[in-house]
Amino acid sequence: MKEERTLVIIKPDGLIKSLTGDIISKLSETELRIVGAKIVNVSKELAEQHYAELKQSKPHVFENTLRYIMGEFHTNRVFALVYKGKNAVEKVRNIAGKTNPEEADPITIRGKYGRINSKTGVFENVVHASDSPKSAEREIKLWFRDTELVD
Ligand code: ADP
Ligand code: MG
Repeated sequence: MKEERTLVIIKPDGLIKSLTGDIISKLSETELRIVGAKIVNVSKELAEQHYAELKQSKPHVFENTLRYIMGEFHTNRVFALVYKGKNAVEKVRNIAGKTNPEEADPITIRGKYGRINSKTGVFENVVHASDSPKSAEREIKLWFRDTELVD
């Protein structure tokens, strides 16, 4: 199996709840390598590009999901990381858990720490994880310059 890269974003709720350390520890179970990491203040443009697909597939949650990732409900920063290794996309998705935190297995990051915001209906699920090698490469280009990634 070929090596893949995948994008992880610890979302604003993860930062404000001081979950960064726990999440990175949990992800270390994958034995993947971190090849990039930085704190980002997410612009509207970046948020829209990142969630471009959501605009088509789930228009009812698109606007509030943008507000969520831009930090309107928590704090205006995220922690973006790139992991690399065999089967990286699937390994990280498995540890992240299902999109809906109420449906996610309780031992996953989203199952453990996520919630549904009762005002906005947004799944505040603490982390983003790319859903395929193709979307991972698209997303990594949006968030990182080549020179910010090692290896
Ligand atoms: P995932 O993050 O698991 O790949 P999607 O790409 O479908 O899921 O959605 C992006 C983000 O939008 C989710 O992580 C979640 O924060 C939010 N979201 C998606 N679907 C819903 C929904 N039905 N209700 C509320 N929020 C949602
Ligand atoms: Mg997705």
